[in-house]
Amino acid sequence: MIYKVVKYGDPILRRKLKPTDFEVLKPILPQLLKDMEETCLAVHGVGLAANQIGLDYRLALILIPESDKKDAPLKRVVIINPEFVDKQGEIIEEEGCLSLPGLWVEIPRATDVTITCLNEKGEAVKIRARGLLAKAIQHEMDHLEGHLFIDHATPAMKPGIKKEIKKLRPKWD
Ligand SMILES: [Zn+2]
Repeated sequence: MIYKVVKYGDPILRRKLKPTDFEVLKPILPQLLKDMEETCLAVHGVGLAANQIGLDYRLALILIPESDKKDAPLKRVVIINPEFVDKQGEIIEEEGCLSLPGLWVEIPRATDVTITCLNEKGEAVKIRARGLLAKAIQHEMDHLEGHLFIDHATPAMKPGIKKEIKKLRPKWD
């Protein structure tokens, strides 16, 4: 099933999501992840957080190429109740979000991150990431906190972003 992705302006995108009890999630998780994956693929996204489909779980799914090779298969990374252990470096790159389609903004992110979380089997794992995965993890963890990538823009950029959103909004359904 393909979910409708919640767009900017919906209050659930600003909600800090509740820590998720894996035992509660477990029975619905396989189907939920399948649906989140289908949704993410349908809109050509790199990641999707639970509140972007209207659900209050500290859960996000990331779909990322397994290698740098062209047409590399996608790997699914599921993070549940993630916490940052370490962040290193800084890079300023363009970023977008399925909840603000069409908007691209240059914002700073750490280049390397280490997090702890539960994986889709409910196992406690540590993930060290750099490059696109590090960026996606930071983006999705922002969602779980009720934050959005545009929050990282400089004050000088914000009026332009507001104007751009106003222009884009009529195209969102
Ligand atoms: Zn997003």
